[in-house]
Amino acid sequence: MEQRIAALRRRFRTLGIANFLVKRPSNIRWLCGFTGSSGLLLITGRNAYFITDGRYTNQAKEEVSGALVYTYSNGLNAADAFIRELKSNREIRFRGRIGFEASFLTVDFYRQLKRTFPNSGLVETQNVVEELMMVKDEYEINAIRRAVAITDKSLESVLPMVKPGITELGLAAEITYQHVKNGAEKNSFELIVASGPRSSMPHGVASKRKIHRNELITFDIGCLYNGYPSDMTRTVAVGKVNSKLRNIYDIVLEAQARGIEAAVPGARCCDVDAAARNFIAAAGFGQYFVHGLGHGLGLEVHSRPMVNKASKTVLKPGMVVTIEPGVYIDGMGGVRIEDDILITENGNEVLNRTPREFMEL
Ligand code: ZN
Ligand code: ZN
Repeated sequence: MEQRIAALRRRFRTLGIANFLVKRPSNIRWLCGFTGSSGLLLITGRNAYFITDGRYTNQAKEEVSGALVYTYSNGLNAADAFIRELKSNREIRFRGRIGFEASFLTVDFYRQLKRTFPNSGLVETQNVVEELMMVKDEYEINAIRRAVAITDKSLESVLPMVKPGITELGLAAEITYQHVKNGAEKNSFELIVASGPRSSMPHGVASKRKIHRNELITFDIGCLYNGYPSDMTRTVAVGKVNSKLRNIYDIVLEAQARGIEAAVPGARCCDVDAAARNFIAAAGFGQYFVHGLGHGLGLEVHSRPMVNKASKTVLKPGMVVTIEPGVYIDGMGGVRIEDDILITENGNEVLNRTPREFMEL
């Protein structure tokens, strides 16, 4: 943890700041270990202070390392309480400009900070901690490996239950049960089980719809292990599907293979995206691939680096990204195939073991 805080401090000069205020829970967790949902971490040139409310007194004592912990127990809202603590706690000392996470500080909090510390410059920042988090250490990679293995195993157990008549929510419940039974803390996002025409919705979370014969089902599922996620998509057929969907499956599968092949150290994320996207476009389905090719995996399921047209980030060993091309035809159905890829010194390793070949149940 201390090395992570030190890495953040090394960014201070470039950012033109002397302190950094961390509000995003996953960033706080990465920097000092606290897993709760509410708190504030102030990193100064020399010290780190973690402030949270009374509900978390014991948890903070147990979990936080590398930062001094203060808790408040009054009826104030979080912003008021944090400001009061920063202002009146004599042990908390800071001077100079304060960087803050522009996407995670409320307007109310920002205004109060400005009012209370009129002489400290407040500096908006974006993705400072998120970028430090992109390259995973061994502990993080092992956690992701475990999460991926649990999701592989869970889908394998649930596929035999895919029969006409069961609902999408019923299948999602079975996967959730398997995830937890196999050692996960919980699902890493609201599971997507989208059948028939609903499979054309890239984010069709499980509904009460019953599975029918001769249609596709997209499972986009994942779980958390030690806070780190898996995120896998498989599209399977129940019975026979029409030749157009069958053909789309092969195109998406080949696009994914090309994306994976391109995801090597030194490659720019936009070029990895292009490797898959160009193939889909050449097959005539470019307009139906409506999202980026993938995203990083970390304490947030959607982490940096984003693997999309705009991302110039260069892949490095230790990054973990998803590769998930999809083609969605409104009213008919869609196909997405997603795996979690660890970038290695020499290339990459696909962490998932679930087969990708077209599967007819
Ligand atoms: Zn996914
Ligand atoms: Zn994903």
